[in-house]
Amino acid sequence: MKRNLVAILIFSLHQAVFSNQLDFVGIGEKNKSYNLEFSLEKTALIVAQSFNSPFSISLEFKETSLKEDFDLKQNYPIKNIKSYSSDNNSIIEIFFYDPVSWQKPQQIKTENGIKVLLSLDHNKEIKKMTREAIVMIDAGHGGRDPGAIAKSHNVMEKDITLLIANELFRTLEDTDGYKPVLVREDDSFIYLDQRYQKARQNSGDIFVSIHADAFSLPSVKGAAIYIWSEEASSNSAKSLSKKVSSVRVDEFDFDEDLARSKYPMMYEKKKEKSLQLGKKILDQLKRDPYTHLHKKRVEYADFRVLKSLDVPSVLIESGFISNSEDAERLQGKPGRRMIARSLFLGINNYFKENLEDDFFIYDAEGYLTYTVQRGDVLSEIAIRFGVPVMDIINTNLIRDEAIFPGQRIKIKI
Ligand SMILES: [Zn+2]
Repeated sequence: MKRNLVAILIFSLHQAVFSNQLDFVGIGEKNKSYNLEFSLEKTALIVAQSFNSPFSISLEFKETSLKEDFDLKQNYPIKNIKSYSSDNNSIIEIFFYDPVSWQKPQQIKTENGIKVLLSLDHNKEIKKMTREAIVMIDAGHGGRDPGAIAKSHNVMEKDITLLIANELFRTLEDTDGYKPVLVREDDSFIYLDQRYQKARQNSGDIFVSIHADAFSLPSVKGAAIYIWSEEASSNSAKSLSKKVSSVRVDEFDFDEDLARSKYPMMYEKKKEKSLQLGKKILDQLKRDPYTHLHKKRVEYADFRVLKSLDVPSVLIESGFISNSEDAERLQGKPGRRMIARSLFLGINNYFKENLEDDFFIYDAEGYLTYTVQRGDVLSEIAIRFGVPVMDIINTNLIRDEAIFPGQRIKIKI
């Protein structure tokens, strides 16, 4: 009798753990843009991939149970949507008549659970399944948390980080193939745990957290790159790690800590990719004539904001605002622009080595495509991409440095 009771207990515990139920809600259409909507009880780990033969998208929802199995015929350009379960995972496959551009699913918290949206676009110009690389940009601190403060220079970390984040956002936003997402768009307070949760909810391909430091010794200066480790690699990294606290995870959130032990392979890959991304950004910082380096190698620290299971994550300390030189550099637009540029070029070099079939960052001839914005001048575009102005002029046959908003220019980097 007792043994049965234990069995029942274990069984119901198992049920409780895997009770995240997945359901297909429906499809919304507007001007050849489609939103496939699903519902979940809590945020899930979703592995999303596309294929070209046949044209299809596969969404694997880890540790979920399907409300019911289905195979539903759809209207052009979608052929059908079907589901099946394997182990504790649910798989949704969407088949198409033509290739589409798609975005990795978004998980949006609502009052009674999670709304999952898969967005698609369909037009004749799309020749193969394509999607943008999603770059999560996290401006450190904000709102009631100013971060480091240097009274002598009248500067707060939260302001510097947002300005750099916006600068990086702008370059990525206007470059084909990238979709930047700002974790914080204004001077608002966001819990550390909500920051990496946002990367999960937006299906971020990478996560970059931007910070600036302060230290009791005003002579200490320079930038540094960190990736996550439970065992911090240096004492200074350790003392930095201690500054962060305050947990904010709710019932709808995904438990990254638990997931790391469940999916060790995924986590190993994330660590390796974080180091690769960190090195690429550091390589660019080394070339930046404005910025002195505080650490010449990628450092490890227990920064909770970087702890996602599978999203390669790095943190940049862009300088010490307690140091006059660094404070001045980060208060000026050129200095901040150089940090944003190193981040952009590092990110771009990272994706260059990790080009997935459905990315379209580079065109067939190996160029990036940048769309000129109002107020842009060629010399500034050249600085942002780290190329000589003449390269852009020659490649794009530009006369008298005349460019216009909406013009699409090719850049070789
Ligand atoms: Zn900070």
